[in-house]
Amino acid sequence: MSKTLQHASGPRLSPQTLAASAGVAHDPAFNAVSPPLHLSANYAWSDPLEKPQYDYARSGNPTRCQLEEALCSLEGAARGVVTASGMAALDLTFNLAGPGDLVLAPHDCYGGTHRLLTARAKKGQFEVAFVDQTDPAALAAAFARKPKLVLIETPSNPLLRITDIGDVVRLARECGAITVADNTFLSPALQRPLALGCDIVVHSTTKFINGHSDVVGGAVLAREAALGEELAWWANCTGVTGAPFDSFMTLRGLRTLFARIEAQQAAAGAVVDALAADARVARVFYPGLASHPGHEIAREQQRGFGSMFSVEFAESVDVIELLRRLRIFTIAESLGGFESLVCVPAAMTHASMTPAARATAGISERLVRFSIGLEHADDLVRDIHAALDLAGSDTAKVAYLEKQAASACG
Ligand SMILES: *Cc1c(COP(=O)(O)O)cnc(C)c1O
Repeated sequence: MSKTLQHASGPRLSPQTLAASAGVAHDPAFNAVSPPLHLSANYAWSDPLEKPQYDYARSGNPTRCQLEEALCSLEGAARGVVTASGMAALDLTFNLAGPGDLVLAPHDCYGGTHRLLTARAKKGQFEVAFVDQTDPAALAAAFARKPKLVLIETPSNPLLRITDIGDVVRLARECGAITVADNTFLSPALQRPLALGCDIVVHSTTKFINGHSDVVGGAVLAREAALGEELAWWANCTGVTGAPFDSFMTLRGLRTLFARIEAQQAAAGAVVDALAADARVARVFYPGLASHPGHEIAREQQRGFGSMFSVEFAESVDVIELLRRLRIFTIAESLGGFESLVCVPAAMTHASMTPAARATAGISERLVRFSIGLEHADDLVRDIHAALDLAGSDTAKVAYLEKQAASACG
């Protein structure tokens, strides 16, 4: 029933077109232009000996399949599985490692991934090693242990460190390891790890792909069909596949992925420029800045620098107070939605790490992470400047309040 998106003989379609046209006007029942939502848990057999294309929705569902095909076409994958969450997607790939196998993961990977790998390793499912993948010596030492599966996450969270995907893939191929890239932070609009040689791409579709902060979901996309089939088998076996309604919503969000991400990263660039010039800012972590250590690699392997950045404020700034004073930014974890979000990693996303572990990872108490949405950049800059005026040292606060009082009287 699915429309073949990329005909081998036809013209190559641009990714924007693939996102906009996936499954459009291909409803065999009523010619619906917008793909319908199929909620049915099961499907009738015409004969006990003839297994239909879909029989039970855990194994396969037309709505979920539509999203899987759309994501495969965008990432250049042969076979995909849409899962109930990003964590379910990551855990699905960890089925490829067994007792005695080593999983290599970035030391600064997503907190939930760190927790999951640690918990699975503790149960003896596999061994895990966390390494700084931007450090060639650490990487070489880790690969000497012949890992079975290597997880890459670039840019990293919250410091936006950039890992050279091609370098890790070369090392992995030398020892026959499977490479899995968590592409959540950029989406296929800005980075395509399979084209850089990775075997599997994982997404938390909760973030940019759905982009509307109203679905928790994930996806696993494999370059080779056989590996994709193995993952689909595990997904059905363990029951981690995504719900049809979530897939429907996520496909709807995917339509505007390119338009959203381009507007969001343009706004992020403008906010970064304004903050980098502010004396109350100690350091900005954004791969788009020439001063960022991963800038050159990002330019080569990404199609843009994205809409996430972190800022370490000067000691004169009370960052907790800064967040309280922001009006447009919402204080929340998560990222990639249409709405701008802000968080203090040390108090929120990375609070479960010990202060020592945070210090090793380079996450200070004065670090603030921003996810830029679709609001106008000028409003966002004004919001941060106004909050900074109120969150500075006491003398700055007094001066600001006096200025406000004077203008109110005048
Ligand atoms: C959010 C996130 C996840 C986990 O995804 P969920 O959908 O929340 O389960 C994994 N990796 C990265 C990089 C994320 O940002």
